[in-house]
Amino acid sequence: HLDIAGLDAHYGKLPVLSGIDLTVGRGDIIGLIGPSGSGKSTILRVLMGLLPPSGGTVKLDDEPVNHADQAALRRLRDRIAIVFQQYNLFQNMTVLENVTIAPVKIKKRPRAEVEAEARALLTKVGLGDKLARYPDELSGGQQQRVAIARALALKPEILLLDEVTAALDPELVSEVLDTIRVLAREGMTMLIVSHEMAFIREVASKVVFMADGRVVETGSPAQIFDAPQHQRTRDFVSKIL
Ligand code: ATP
Ligand code: MG
Repeated sequence: HLDIAGLDAHYGKLPVLSGIDLTVGRGDIIGLIGPSGSGKSTILRVLMGLLPPSGGTVKLDDEPVNHADQAALRRLRDRIAIVFQQYNLFQNMTVLENVTIAPVKIKKRPRAEVEAEARALLTKVGLGDKLARYPDELSGGQQQRVAIARALALKPEILLLDEVTAALDPELVSEVLDTIRVLAREGMTMLIVSHEMAFIREVASKVVFMADGRVVETGSPAQIFDAPQHQRTRDFVSKIL
């Protein structure tokens, strides 16, 4: 489990996160919502060790993560994987190579074993027939599903998803959401940043609403969407539903 307590972060002098408390337990699906610029992506950046916090703590299984310690950051990135809005696939590699490259080259795992797992993952995301294709031969939704398979190939304990459908044409969104639904059903621990409120409501075990770098309100999907306690949450929810 991942525990964030009193987390502060700055970009230069600009404060972007203030006193964030957030716990992600095994099997949790946390929906992180809030207006543009509220700090959602910044939380994920801190969790990936890409931005050192200026205050507070990040703990993984009760062990504090020291962002100045490269070995600690490697251990963190060993256990957490992230998928972004821009899928950033390697254009000169096939779908299968995109998924196998990190486990083989970085984790030094046996190629045959990694390939077998990659085939299974690509089949799970509905791309079992596209292994030998290149990214530019796929639709955006297919490419994003390759990116999800690539993240899963690292066997993360926690998967972070940052607006993974935001760049897609509307008709391609549902195939990516379906893939996330499958992971949810399998019990994957996820922290999902999304503007797809109906989807968050459906899959999240807990919803965290942020504004201006702070957590305003946390609750079940029903609490946040049907009975928000704070005016700021009410305003946001009424605008987007
Ligand atoms: P969105 O929904 O638009 O993705 P967000 O909630 O993910 O928004 P963040 O990207 O975390 O918001 O940004 C939080 C704040 O930090 C914003 O005010 C943003 O302008 C600022 N910010 C983000 N990245 C940087 C950066 N690299 N340098 C300086 N400021 C940044
Ligand atoms: Mg963002």
